[in-house]
Amino acid sequence: MAEQVRLSEDEWRQQLRADEYKMLRENRTENPWSGAYVEATAPGVYHCRACGAELFHSSTKVPANCGWPLFTEPIDPTAVDFIEDRSAGMLRTRVRCSVCLSHLGYYFEHDPYHINSLSLSFRRIVSTDQEPGEAPVLDFEDDGDLVPVRIFLSSDAPREEVERAVANLLDTFELDVRVVYDGEIGSWFHELFIRARQRGTLGDQLTKLERAIDLQTHLRTQSEVDERQGDVVAKLITSLENTPNAVIQIGSVLLVKISGDILVRNLTQRELAIYERNPALFRDPATARKLLESFQREGVTAALKAADTLEASEPS
Ligand SMILES: [Zn+2]
Repeated sequence: MAEQVRLSEDEWRQQLRADEYKMLRENRTENPWSGAYVEATAPGVYHCRACGAELFHSSTKVPANCGWPLFTEPIDPTAVDFIEDRSAGMLRTRVRCSVCLSHLGYYFEHDPYHINSLSLSFRRIVSTDQEPGEAPVLDFEDDGDLVPVRIFLSSDAPREEVERAVANLLDTFELDVRVVYDGEIGSWFHELFIRARQRGTLGDQLTKLERAIDLQTHLRTQSEVDERQGDVVAKLITSLENTPNAVIQIGSVLLVKISGDILVRNLTQRELAIYERNPALFRDPATARKLLESFQREGVTAALKAADTLEASEPS
């Protein structure tokens, strides 16, 4: 049995966005057909959005018939637990995450697991060139040398510009890497997962980069960064010389460039989690900058609020 997670409601409130809190801790149900995962079909694993426990595999997801993501069974029988619920004037069976007891959705005999999208977070399974069909689930915390690199350039950037930025980035870091996964979402967004060919190389480079960034206590302009961190941060910035607007994530490092101004930050685990859950927030450099500034200025609680506002105002 997995370890139990028990937080006070205040702690959950700190940890979750307001809409997630309502769903997971106040047993709400999202509107039908409104959730992000209702019609999702990508291969991967759905985790509890509150505690991260593995809950459902995409292979057990069936077409939604009444507007919520529908699963036939959990990834493991002990992953969920059940509780009688009479709140709507009838007897229903509520499904909870057995690790943190957060509310997931409802169980029905015929179409078993109706789960709220907001109660879940999804991790894609990527294929590798080594083990076709036997791909690992990406895990950013446990698999230290598998590093996500996400590159968003201004939306009108031509495809070659994206490719050049990727090549420059790998070049300037002198990384001998294997691209494990290479995904494209539109011509302006490039997502790679890279692994160093020689163990340690990539980790060392990233540690240097993260340390250099952690030395900065405030946001700085490009010239100030150049002056203070002549080496590794400057290298990163050089790789973007020809790109006016960009958002780049390398591991936990996030860099936003708008009209030549560069903001760079080594994200904390919680900040990174906000990004992982809302990648759309970062596809627009202006939005990414706002969020990054609020991380820097006000700490994570305010940033969570900012993320809510930004997400709510984002056209879908
Ligand atoms: Zn949980």
